Amino acid sequence: MAVDECSIRVVCRFRPLNESEERAGSKSVVKFPPDQEETVLITGKVYVFDKVFRPDATQEKVYNEAAKEIVKDVLSGYNGTIFAYGQTSSGKTHTMEGVLNKENEQGIIPRIVQDIFNHIYTLDSNLQFQIKVSYFEIYLDKIRDLLDVSKTNLAVHENKNKVPYVKGVTERFVSSPEEVFETIEDGKMNRHTAVTNMNEHSSRSHSVFLINIKQENMETEKKLTGTLYLVDLAGSEKVSKTGAVKTVLDEAKNINKSLSALGNVISALADGTKSHVPYRDSKLTRILQESLGGNARTTIIICCSPASYNELETKSTLEFGKRAK
Ligand code: ADP
Ligand code: MG
Repeated sequence: MAVDECSIRVVCRFRPLNESEERAGSKSVVKFPPDQEETVLITGKVYVFDKVFRPDATQEKVYNEAAKEIVKDVLSGYNGTIFAYGQTSSGKTHTMEGVLNKENEQGIIPRIVQDIFNHIYTLDSNLQFQIKVSYFEIYLDKIRDLLDVSKTNLAVHENKNKVPYVKGVTERFVSSPEEVFETIEDGKMNRHTAVTNMNEHSSRSHSVFLINIKQENMETEKKLTGTLYLVDLAGSEKVSKTGAVKTVLDEAKNINKSLSALGNVISALADGTKSHVPYRDSKLTRILQESLGGNARTTIIICCSPASYNELETKSTLEFGKRAK
């Protein structure tokens, strides 16, 4: 990406209608004009993004066109964030993670990991690399380490350069894609055992996978560091008040609060004229501060269902994406 280009990209991905939507007689309410890969129409309303992926888009296409570029940037010392936004079951986890060990079904995270190592193997042998990963989730504004279940409420601190970081979070040094995948599997297992209903839980928490790459040129002693945040956000759906018990309402309020804090940060950044970017309004935006806006590369993947049943949520998801443009 050229430096003068806007550093926030917004792409949108529609998953196919699923079985239960088809069984319920739900129809697709979206149209994709031929030869226009940036546009989607939903009941007559037009939305334009940097790219619109249709239901038949492969994992490979989404990776190549939405994420691949960021690898070069991170290896050049930039920070970056890719996050998936959308209602529960819109395809966020499929897009970010997919199936780790099946080549065709790998999502963005395993492909990025593979690419990072491929790049490193081909680079100048004077360069020495140190790669570490962390994996945590944010639930009810509490940060829980997915690589160490004993750390359930980690704090955000600032280093001497005023850069926020999660204090005490586990950092695993990794030297191959396989090691990274094992780390992700460990984290997922910990997440599963810690909660009773994984589906419900994952729709209410943000999961954050962090890759930090340090490189040093042994000849010139020049050092570069790049950090990439890969975020699978909590479901953006509105929880209806009727019938929701108190914890559900607390969760819903919290999710709304952190997603709207994220929306406010993104739109302040996209606006470009605002001097105040409200990073401090949630833990998520604080953590991402150095990896959103400024010199950092940000890609938002808006995930949507095409079904008439989900039309209202889909529109609100598309509106979120529009605010970032
Ligand atoms: P979310 O993480 O947003 O809740 P998921 O990624 O779990 O949603 O997707 C819900 C279901 O739909 C999963 O079974 C997933 O495999 C399937 N799915 C999502 N996106 C696609 C797609 N583009 N193509 C095929 N199946 C998909
Ligand atoms: Mg998910």
